[in-house]
Amino acid sequence: MTDILVSPEVDPPSAPAVRRLFIKTYGCQMNVYDSERMADVLRPLGFASTDTPEMADFVILNTCHIREKAAEKVYSELGKLRLMKEARAAAGADPMTIAVAGCVAQAEGEEIMRRQPAVDLVVGPQAYHQLPELLTRTARARGERIGADFAPNEKFDAMPAVRGVDGPTAFLTVQEGCDKFCSFCVVPYTRGAEWSRPAADVLAEARGLVDQGVREITLLGQNVNAYDGAGPDGAVWTLARLARALAEVPGLSRIRYTTSHPNDMSDDLIAAHGELEALMPYLHLPVQSGSDRILRLMNRKHGRQSYVDLIGRIRQARPDIAISGDFIVGFPGETDRDFEDTLGLVRDVGYASAFSFLYSPRPGTPASTMGAPVPADVALARLHALQALLLEQQTAFNRAQTGRTLDVLFEKKGRHEAQAIGRSPYLQSVHVEDADHLIGRIVPVRIEYGQQNSLKGVQLGA
Ligand code: SAM
Ligand code: SF4
Repeated sequence: MTDILVSPEVDPPSAPAVRRLFIKTYGCQMNVYDSERMADVLRPLGFASTDTPEMADFVILNTCHIREKAAEKVYSELGKLRLMKEARAAAGADPMTIAVAGCVAQAEGEEIMRRQPAVDLVVGPQAYHQLPELLTRTARARGERIGADFAPNEKFDAMPAVRGVDGPTAFLTVQEGCDKFCSFCVVPYTRGAEWSRPAADVLAEARGLVDQGVREITLLGQNVNAYDGAGPDGAVWTLARLARALAEVPGLSRIRYTTSHPNDMSDDLIAAHGELEALMPYLHLPVQSGSDRILRLMNRKHGRQSYVDLIGRIRQARPDIAISGDFIVGFPGETDRDFEDTLGLVRDVGYASAFSFLYSPRPGTPASTMGAPVPADVALARLHALQALLLEQQTAFNRAQTGRTLDVLFEKKGRHEAQAIGRSPYLQSVHVEDADHLIGRIVPVRIEYGQQNSLKGVQLGA
């Protein structure tokens, strides 16, 4: 696995001046967080963000390896960047440095350097705090491996204490890695073993965000509810304990967390949903399949009924909670009967929103050699059927909000003049006219109607 690879053509940074940084993020919220932190470590070197890669002195592709399509997109983007880099050089402009970061970098670093010579740096997810240093290195032998196998805590320790924020919501990574080894998934191989940040560091970062106007924090982790960070009192803190401490931070009104594994949903965390006003009534709890046979092949270590029972206990603690999930269709050997079990589970649970994916074989994972692939047309038909059912449930959940008054945290301007867009406690997008002066605030909104992807309402606050 690759941690950092550098080519010799990297230019040393000159004295801090405004230099343009373009970061393209693929994949999950954890990558969004990582991209923000990369911008934070590069800011002291004079890097300011640009939206146009053609203008950028430094381009970073922060990549995702979870499905084949996601990884292939990176190579096609690199082809375009190579042309931009050559055009800049031909025009005599400052050279463009190109880096590939994230999980594709971790899994295929050497392959990237071989396939696309325009790439100057390859940086794995645990090494991006080294970006400033890497930019100062010149005359390095191409492909040299440096700083291998960083532990996650080195990265977090090296981050600037103050983060750049963009609006009233922020992501905060508290946990990384995965020990679950679902048979289809690359995460345990690209992100390494489960590791949790110390609670005091998380609390300090949260307070810093709140000082800058953040009202809602989403705690992130590949298995966030397996959080077991060192507490300031010397005890190991669970996610429930961390949420209770965060709920005490003045000014922090909303706490969310994602993504969770059903087996790490402790009684304490379930109870916290009934007790903490700041813990939002929304839970992303992937199940992947409704067939016990497929769940066993997936090495999920939970069954269909235990998941349904778990949802029941969570709803007892917080009856209005919105449940979300992830599903994979077309896992090797999945029969019509298995797929019917998935549709049945969706009907039993009732989802407010969900993500569904076609199974994508990932090299090195046990499922990739399980054989008996589901024919592509069958898998696609199943995906469409599942998505139609999930969309029906999502639309029904949104429509059911009509006439209710929901607290909305306004995040940004909408497309219409003076329109603002915010989020309900259930993570629904809410559009309100004449509300752009309310951005950054939580205001009661009467919902006029709900549709497939959003709600429309009128604000009742000042
Ligand atoms: N840790 C989380 C969990 O256990 O649910 C999710 C991590 S993964 C980044 C997000 C989702 O990608 C998974 O829940 C799964 O549905 C999907 N996924 C992972 N590997 C996949 C594969 N090989 N093919 C299709 N979808 C996949
Ligand atoms: Fe992947 Fe399973 Fe770990 Fe989620 S729990 S990151 S799906 S191995």
